Amino acid sequence: MTLLDELSGYEFEDAVASLFRAHGYEDVAVAARVADEGRDVTMRDGETAHVVECKHTDTVSRPVVQKLHSAAATYDHDGPTQGMVVTSGRFTGPAEAYAEGLREAGDPHPVELVDGDDLRELGEAVGMDLYNGRIEIICEETLPVGEPGLALAEVFEDVDDAPPRAALPAPDVEVVYRPVVEVEAVTRATFETSVGVIHRVDRRDRVVVPADDPAATTPATDLLELTGVEPVALEAARGRHDGRIERFDGTEAEYREAAAELLCSALETTVTYTGDNNVTYRRDCRPSPDDVDLQRVRSLYIPRVEAVVTLDEYEHGLAYDAAGSRRVVRRDAVRRCVHCEDGLVPYTYCDNCGSVSCETHTETERLTGEPVCTGCAVTAEFFRDTKYFFDEGNAEAFRREYEAMPFHRKAMENPRLVAAAAAAAVVVAALAVLAVGLV
Ligand SMILES: [Zn+2]
Ligand SMILES: [Zn+2]
Repeated sequence: MTLLDELSGYEFEDAVASLFRAHGYEDVAVAARVADEGRDVTMRDGETAHVVECKHTDTVSRPVVQKLHSAAATYDHDGPTQGMVVTSGRFTGPAEAYAEGLREAGDPHPVELVDGDDLRELGEAVGMDLYNGRIEIICEETLPVGEPGLALAEVFEDVDDAPPRAALPAPDVEVVYRPVVEVEAVTRATFETSVGVIHRVDRRDRVVVPADDPAATTPATDLLELTGVEPVALEAARGRHDGRIERFDGTEAEYREAAAELLCSALETTVTYTGDNNVTYRRDCRPSPDDVDLQRVRSLYIPRVEAVVTLDEYEHGLAYDAAGSRRVVRRDAVRRCVHCEDGLVPYTYCDNCGSVSCETHTETERLTGEPVCTGCAVTAEFFRDTKYFFDEGNAEAFRREYEAMPFHRKAMENPRLVAAAAAAAVVVAALAVLAVGLV
């Protein structure tokens, strides 16, 4: 209740007005009231007019009901007129008794009482959530989470020498259901100057507004490819992948407004045209929110999945927005080098320590021929060249092999030196040929 009290009455009255609009009342209007700091909501249900007093307080007592009864009785309307007091809190016993008394006496202007609990129920019936005194969106649908284990396995396919799908342990999965509002809109705008029409907009778009950020200045275009996927029931999805649900911070009206603004910015363009005087002009053509006709507004959750698999000494994580098998990757800690920031592909898995490394940080284990990362490898010099080993044991085993090698095999252990030697030999031979030629 404290939070409700912190709100301005205006917000509350607007919320009540939208609620009754959603319930099918006609001509719902929030009117200024002179004698009181509050405003009345008036509306019509067929022939019957309703005068609604909004009380955004903990308790509403009898005088409020009494006063509204008089207001309803004197309201200027040809048909029947009733009163209604709506509060985010509750009514006192005498207030309820007074309203009950009017009804029992068959008063022509009965007063209906709607308390906080009733309000919430009325909201839920039309998919609005009265939260902190505002009408919030209730959403029961989410894009499917998909299979996080499969998502990780698919990413590991890009890593050389990685464990096969079946060998990957089940990942730790964390899912957060993040709200978005998707709006379909038709924008029609014509831009005219003295030389005639210079630009025309006539198009249909879909816009996704992340609901936790209604003030976003760029549309979340990457989410559009996800929202094409058929949603599933939130409850069912959470049954399989439990996770936190983030709230819709704004009201539907705010998201509609945000979507229209985003569209206008996205469709803004500069047009160059030549005037009658042969002078070239540039004009900014930006549709106004009035040019945008919002045709369909849909709210849904997009699961943000964080899947982490631990291999030996390393954790490999993948964070993405999911829609079944479709994903928009937000953080990829699989296809990266654990040793440097911006290593180059191919990434290679090191079976010795469980890391993934870039080309620079991957070497070939001299004894087994398998990839090993520079982070865990044991190194030793052979024929003035650095060799990499899984461990001291392998290094020792190779040392024995090396000792037994004939000299030319030992020399092959340093390919650069061999190449340099070969080049030198060619030069010597060429000089010899030259010398012979000179004779
Ligand atoms: Zn690297
Ligand atoms: Zn390693």
